[in-house]
Amino acid sequence: MMNTVLVFLEQREGVVKEASIDLWNRVQELAAFQPSTSVAALLAGPVDIQQLDGSLAGKGVVYHAGEEAYRLYNPQHYRRLVAETMKRAEATTLFFADTALSRDLAPGLSVRLQASLLAGCTFDAALADGGGCQRPVYSGAALASFAPCRSLKMYTITPRATRSSTKNAGSKITYKLLDPSLCSGEELFPLVRRLTMHKGVPDVAEAAIIVAGGRGMGSAEGFALLEELARLLGGAVGASRPVVDEGWRPHAEQIGQTGKTVAPALYLACAISGTPQHLAAIGAADTIVAINRDPYAPIFDVADYGIVGDVHLVLPKLIEELQEFLKKR
Ligand code: FAD
Repeated sequence: MMNTVLVFLEQREGVVKEASIDLWNRVQELAAFQPSTSVAALLAGPVDIQQLDGSLAGKGVVYHAGEEAYRLYNPQHYRRLVAETMKRAEATTLFFADTALSRDLAPGLSVRLQASLLAGCTFDAALADGGGCQRPVYSGAALASFAPCRSLKMYTITPRATRSSTKNAGSKITYKLLDPSLCSGEELFPLVRRLTMHKGVPDVAEAAIIVAGGRGMGSAEGFALLEELARLLGGAVGASRPVVDEGWRPHAEQIGQTGKTVAPALYLACAISGTPQHLAAIGAADTIVAINRDPYAPIFDVADYGIVGDVHLVLPKLIEELQEFLKKR
């Protein structure tokens, strides 16, 4: 029997997220070894699909619900759309990249679909025999295995730091516009207001570059240096928990056990000691650079590069060098 896997391609402001594209490509890699698995995707919102040219590998159908109503995330709209598309595609497995949107959408959807939800998993074990998957637990000290107990399975998959950017020539992707009537007949709550906190700044959970600060930054004003560095690097500012508890930065930027899990290509940890509760969330970072005045700070045990020094001396120099470098490019 054919097993269809549906991948949710998430967009924001008309741009499909790299984490979703990477997820599709990883699902394709697995499906290539499983002749009974076919891959489909759902793309919600008015998106120019030409942007996907060469990005999606392998073969499969992309269902596109291009109506204006799906431009912005509305849980009720999206829940119904995904549920209907699962039926249309006769899919038994649904994959999301683990993002703020999927964390909100997936639990209610799993109830609607009567599906097992395995959240925050690493990809490699998913789709293995029985569809079990693994997730780091106890501040990253152990990996726990979870098994679905229903025939319909849903996963939110932690994005990986290194995403393939190679163009996929020769892929066979078919785009099918979903009939707008697919989701008619149910009264929907209107979206009343949309709040944008920092326009154009990537969410810390999805950023490829994160400049994070800890208690050693000294004050809310101390973060001006990190904001400038993040701006120059095109990254996001992150924070440890004491920084958020002090009210220096918003909770949306907190990284750690009780904050967000991140997987950037570059994680710059400034005046962060590196406690297990913080390190639990940065294990997937590709390269970690730490700046700390204490040479014995535990962050140096996990850092690829370390600078022993005062952030108030090191960061201005780093910013100056970077400005010079960028001017010459
Ligand atoms: P500190 O541990 O105080 O470290 C400050 C560092 O800055 C030190 O290493 C110091 O040497 C250095 N420093 C000071 N001044 C300078 C300077 N001028 N230049 C350079 N270096 C300097 N923490 C999180 O981060 N995220 C979480 O999600 C989280 N969840 C938690 C959940 C639970 C249940 C518990 C119990 C704790 C949690 N914590 C979390 C808190 C965690 O245990 C630590 O208290 C916290 O991570 C420490 O943050 P910090 O590194 O910013 O501060």
